Amino acid sequence: MPNSSAQFNASDEQIRSALQQAHIPVLLNTLVHLTHDLSLIEGDIQPSPSLMGGDPNASISEEQKEQIRELAFEALVRYRDSQQDLFMPNRQEVLKMATFLTRTELSDEYAEFALAELAIDGSETFPTENFDLIPESQRSNFKVLIVGAGMSGLLAGIRCKEAGIPFVIIEKNDEVGGTWYENQYPGCRVDSPNHVYSYSFKPHDWPQHFSDRHTLLAYFQEVADEFKLRESIEFNTEVKSMHFHSDTNTWAVKVESERGSATIDANAVITAVGQLNRSRMPDIPGIEDYKGPWFHSSRWNHNIDLKGKKVGIIGTGASAFQFTPEVVKQAKDVNIFLRTPPWVAINPQYHEYISDEVHWLLNNVPFYSQWFRFNMFWTSGEGLLSMARCDEKWNESETVSEANHGLRTMLCAAIEAQFQDRPDLVEKLTPTYPPAAKRMLIDNGHWYQSLKSDNVEVISEEIEQITESGLRTSEGTEHDFDVIIYGTGFQAVKFLYPMEIYGKDGRELREIWGEDPRAFQGITLPNYPNFFTLYGPNTNIVVNGSIIFFSECEMLYVMNCLHYLLKNNQKALECKPDPFKVYNEKIDHDNKGMAWGASNVNAWYKNSSGRVTQNWPGTLVEFWQQSKQMDPEDYFFS
Ligand code: NAP
Repeated sequence: MPNSSAQFNASDEQIRSALQQAHIPVLLNTLVHLTHDLSLIEGDIQPSPSLMGGDPNASISEEQKEQIRELAFEALVRYRDSQQDLFMPNRQEVLKMATFLTRTELSDEYAEFALAELAIDGSETFPTENFDLIPESQRSNFKVLIVGAGMSGLLAGIRCKEAGIPFVIIEKNDEVGGTWYENQYPGCRVDSPNHVYSYSFKPHDWPQHFSDRHTLLAYFQEVADEFKLRESIEFNTEVKSMHFHSDTNTWAVKVESERGSATIDANAVITAVGQLNRSRMPDIPGIEDYKGPWFHSSRWNHNIDLKGKKVGIIGTGASAFQFTPEVVKQAKDVNIFLRTPPWVAINPQYHEYISDEVHWLLNNVPFYSQWFRFNMFWTSGEGLLSMARCDEKWNESETVSEANHGLRTMLCAAIEAQFQDRPDLVEKLTPTYPPAAKRMLIDNGHWYQSLKSDNVEVISEEIEQITESGLRTSEGTEHDFDVIIYGTGFQAVKFLYPMEIYGKDGRELREIWGEDPRAFQGITLPNYPNFFTLYGPNTNIVVNGSIIFFSECEMLYVMNCLHYLLKNNQKALECKPDPFKVYNEKIDHDNKGMAWGASNVNAWYKNSSGRVTQNWPGTLVEFWQQSKQMDPEDYFFS
C-alpha cells in the first residue's frame, strides 16, 4: 500500500532501475519534499501538457531526465540511509507545486484543495465532523437507512460508522460492489484512471492503470471487510417504498426479501443506487418478437456460448465498446449496429499493467503516489473541462470552442491513423457532434482494431424492426442472428426507479420529478426531509474525473447535515424551495454553456425535452467547495 513516510530497504540498483520509469514531473515534486529545494521546479525543466495519456516527459531532454534521476537517486539513498525530515509545503508552496505539475496558473482555491487532497500532514481529505462532541446517547438514537452497497453505499456506511451513528444498508444483490458486481460482461474495466478512481482514504496498489472489474470488485469487497460493514448489510433485500411521517419525523421503509416484507423505521435515508442501475431496452418495434437468445450487457448470459455464432450487437457506448472485441474473438460473424459514433481518446496505458518499477515508486518514494494521483486528477479530469466549455462567439456546429476544435482535430487524426486501410470506417466512425457532447471513450486502439476484423460488419443503417430471427434495417435489409446482445445503456433519467418515495405531503417522488429530476446540490429536495441522494441529479461528470470523488464530496455534505441536526437537537431538515430553485436555475444555465448541453445529439445525460438532468457543469473543485459546508439558511428544521 502506498506510504509516503515509511522508510524502505531497496538496493541502489533497485532504486536506479525504478527511477528509469519515473514520471519526471511527479518525481520533481517529490524531490522538493526530499531536498527542501523549491527551486528545482522553478528552472528550465518544465513538463509538457500531458492531457489524455500524452507523454509528460516529452518536453524534457534526455540529458535533463538523467540529471533529475541522478538527483533523485542521491536523495532517495540519503532518505533510505538516514532518518531525514521531509519538506512540508505551505499553502503557497503547494500551489506552486500543483501549478508546476499542471502547467496551468491555478487559482487560490486549488491551493486549499491540493493541501486537502494530498493529505500532506496526514489528515483526511474528507474529514467526518466532530461527532464525538455529541453525546453518544443522542447519536445512538438516530438511525440511518442506506439503500445500496455499491461504491457510494459502502462509503455512506463507513462515514456513519465513523460518526457513531447506527445504520443499516439494504442491498438487493447477494454481494457488495454495485455496478462492479452486476456488470459481468467480458472486457469490463474502469475507464477513469484507478489512482483517482479509488477512495481518498483507501489507496491501493492497482495492477493496471485501468483495472478490470474483478479487481474493482475485490477492492470494494476488501473495503466492506476492512470496515466491518457486512454485519450491517441486509443482502438479497430490496427497498420497495418509503413514507415520511411528519408526526415522528421518521421514514418508514418497506423492504422485501425471500423472508417476506418488513418495514424499517429510520431517522434519515441515504440512497446510493447509482444513475446507471436499471438496464434500458431500446424502443424498437417488434422487440418482443425475436425468438432466439438475447441479453443486455448488464445481465450478461454466460450460459450462451458465442463460439461459432452469428451475433448482432446493438450499441456502441461505453459498455459495448468494451465487450465487442471479446465477442469478436469468439463469434463467427458479428454485426455491429452503430447509431451515433462515440469520440474515442487513445490512451496507450488503457490495457497496460503497471511495472514492478512503477509499483516501487508509488509504494516507497515519499509523496510520489499523492502527486501521481493529483496529476491524474488534472490530466484525466479537471484539466479537460475547459475543452468542453462553449465559447459564445464560436459558430461551428461540430465544435464549441477553439479548444474543443483542437481536441476534435486530435481525435480525428487518431481515427485516420487507425483506419488508413479502411476509409469506409473513417466515415462511419467520425462523429459529427462536438467532443464531450456525449461520453468520450478511452481506448488503446483495441476497439477500433476489432472493428476491422474479417468477421465484423459495422452497420450504420437505422434498425427499423426486430424480427423473429433478427432485425430489419431502414433500407430493408434483413439480418438473422443466433444471438442478439443489447449494449443499449440504462434508464438513467428515472432516478431512484423503481422505488416509490412518498414525501411529507404524501406525494410520490415521480409525481414531482417526472422526467425532470432536480435536487439541491444534487442531494436534498423540498418535501423530503432527512432524505439524501448520492450520485443524484446533476452530479455526473462527462470528461472530468472520478465519480468516487463526487460521492466523497456528497457524503461530506450529508455528514455535515447530520452533525448539524444532532448538535442542535433537531429531528429533521428539509430543503427550502428558494435555494433549491436558485441552485437548479444556475445548473441549467451552466449546463447550456457546456458541449453536452449545447449540442442536440442524443445522450443519456438529457431527458426527452433536452434538459440536462444528469451532469454537473462546473469544476471538481467547485463541487468540493459547495459540499464542504452546509448552510442552515438553506433548510427548515423540525
Ligand atoms: P450508453 O452510453 O447509453 O450507450 C447505449 C448505446 O446503445 C449507444 O450506442 C446508443 O446509440 C445505442 N442505442 C440505444 N438505443 C438504440 C437504438 N434504438 N438503435 C440503435 N442503437 C441504440 O450505455 P452504456 O454503453 O451502457 O454506458 C452508459 C454509461 O455507463 C457510460 O456513459 C458510462 O458513464 C458508464 N459506463 C462506464 C464504464 C466504465 O467505467 N468502464 C463502462 C460502461 C459504462 P446512441 O448513441 O445513438 O444513443
